[in-house]
Amino acid sequence: MSLDLLSIPAECVTQSRISELDYNNIEFGKIFSDHMLVADYKDGAWQTPQIMPYGNMSLSPATSALHYGQSIFEGMKAYKAANGDILLFRPLDNFRRLNISAERMCMAELPEDIFMQGLEQLLRLDAAWVPPTSGCALYIRPFMFATDDFIGVRPSSSYRFTIFSCPVGAYYGQPLKVAIEPHYVRSAEGGAGFAKAAGNYGAALLPARKMQERGYHQLIWTDAKEHKFIEESGTMNLMFVIDGKLITPPASTTILKGITRDSVLQLARDFGYTVEERKVSVDEIVEAHKAGKLQEAFGTGTAATIAQIATIHYNGQDMDLPAIENREISNRVATELDKIKTGQAPDKHNWVYRISL
Ligand SMILES: *Cc1c(COP(=O)(O)O)cnc(C)c1O
Repeated sequence: MSLDLLSIPAECVTQSRISELDYNNIEFGKIFSDHMLVADYKDGAWQTPQIMPYGNMSLSPATSALHYGQSIFEGMKAYKAANGDILLFRPLDNFRRLNISAERMCMAELPEDIFMQGLEQLLRLDAAWVPPTSGCALYIRPFMFATDDFIGVRPSSSYRFTIFSCPVGAYYGQPLKVAIEPHYVRSAEGGAGFAKAAGNYGAALLPARKMQERGYHQLIWTDAKEHKFIEESGTMNLMFVIDGKLITPPASTTILKGITRDSVLQLARDFGYTVEERKVSVDEIVEAHKAGKLQEAFGTGTAATIAQIATIHYNGQDMDLPAIENREISNRVATELDKIKTGQAPDKHNWVYRISL
């Protein structure tokens, strides 16, 4: 099936809810733009997608995603350029990753035109919801779940793909206090850690809450075998600057391959920094800190782009890192990435997908 450009049937709202939105005071994840896209897969084929007013869905209690977790998602942001165009950051990479997750979870493969044209048409319709304010963006949530109403454990034969969006304010996150997790595991070799599969996040909530109760914002996951090697922090990839080099654990089956991660590494290479994608042991971090060589630590992900880490806790001790303003590499890359995403710096790597209204 191939869709003509902007040919997705749309039922539009009679009255937009945009006046409910206060751009200067956006509460994350609670206000949704007017429309959503819905495409169903059944009888071995994707049916014609539809755009409709954002609203509840009716589901059978036996909906298999609710029981056995065939449910995957993506997260991306759209920005408003100075001339009013909508700018998406690397949406094709989100599309490809959705299908990598789908494959691992034994779900139907989504065609590119449903994702990309659905996204484009939806954004044209909800263009007013992309905040013009600096630092703000429209967060876009594509996701897919199994819809068979059957409670036998087997891959579903029907799926629903949906995209909705919500405006988000500037991320003024304070620098994070994180703790290295010595017991719980997010992901093991051969598991599904590289997929954005719903269950991975559900299983991470308890360990994260326990860390929060101990006074840390977030935890650092370690490898499932020995808890010796650093994996990720919460739902962000993790990077360190040790002795001037940018170091991050390699993408593997246990680590989610972040699009922000890839972009940060590319920009750091462009700037001429040494970048190493290799295993990072907890011991190496502790030793580097002792020697005064641990210069920066930060998480990368769509939500925050770069989330600075102020303190890393391990084995009864807090390791405090240098002041945020002295962190050359992360600050430089964060600024450049922000400019590229909003159309204020040249897009040398063709990352930006522009929708001219
Ligand atoms: C989404 C996610 C990331 C970050 O990916 P981005 O593409 O940069 O947003 C990192 N780790 C996990 C576990 C994630 O779910």
